[in-house]
Amino acid sequence: MSNFKGKAVIVTGAAMGLGLAAADALASKGADLTLVDFNGEALEKAKADLQSKYPESKFLTVTADVSVEENVKNYVDQTVKEFGKVDGLYNNAGIEGKQAPLIDYDIEVFKKVIDINLLGVYYGMKYVIPEMQKNGSGRIVNVASVGGIRGVLNQTAYVATKHAVAGMTKNAALEYGKDNILTNAIAPGAILTPMVAEAFNQVNPADPKAAEKEYASRNPTRRLGDPKDVGNLVAYLLSDENGYVSGQVIAIDGGESNMY
Ligand code: NAD
Repeated sequence: MSNFKGKAVIVTGAAMGLGLAAADALASKGADLTLVDFNGEALEKAKADLQSKYPESKFLTVTADVSVEENVKNYVDQTVKEFGKVDGLYNNAGIEGKQAPLIDYDIEVFKKVIDINLLGVYYGMKYVIPEMQKNGSGRIVNVASVGGIRGVLNQTAYVATKHAVAGMTKNAALEYGKDNILTNAIAPGAILTPMVAEAFNQVNPADPKAAEKEYASRNPTRRLGDPKDVGNLVAYLLSDENGYVSGQVIAIDGGESNMY
């Protein structure tokens, strides 16, 4: 795996879950990181933990809501001010929304899911791509989901926005490949993070662990994914070792999306 020394990478939703796992994988390879999250307290704790684990990397924290365009412009500006450039973006912050059948879906929740999962990812690319053009190269990984490849019961807003992430990824790859900017999306299955723990809580509030076990039993590997599995894939896609993979939506789900 190539070294990220001297590379500046932005990670959104970095305070926990898949964002934190990717930040860890990138810092372990020498990257300097801008850690972005709207949970400022958890973000500072994540930074302190990473800084003590990887003293040679630099960490900038920016508290931001990715659904607010000025906040996104600001985290990109702060990164350029601190590190002089942006080499990579892990466009990861997202929410699940509330689970409900399509006809009962709360429209306010739907709009919030669009603002964060769809527009938040769009703004990230909008402000980072010009910096990557100046820099002569760049790597972007957007976070879709298996819900960006197929349907997921009771998650209409989530599935709609994750399909949109897959679509925007393909367009960015088409439009900016000429600038040596490679853009991909990952489509994780169930990876055990705080978001997924909350989903099992919604499925079976009395016994979320039973819901988790039942879900894992349906996977070809008979287990849920580990955030580290995702961090390693993200680090590869954001590295110079990825020279020609672009516009892809890469499932990381133990093979489950091949079943029906
Ligand atoms: P998580 O809830 O554990 O962590 C998400 C992080 O993003 C949190 O730190 C949260 O504060 C932050 N965040 C949420 N909304 C934000 C906003 N508007 N602005 C800034 N920060 C914000 O979730 P996770 O499981 O780590 O999920 C990360 C991404 O991966 C999401 O886009 C999610 O849809 C996607 N995903 C996760 C799984 C999984 O199994 N965990 C599967 C498929 C896709």
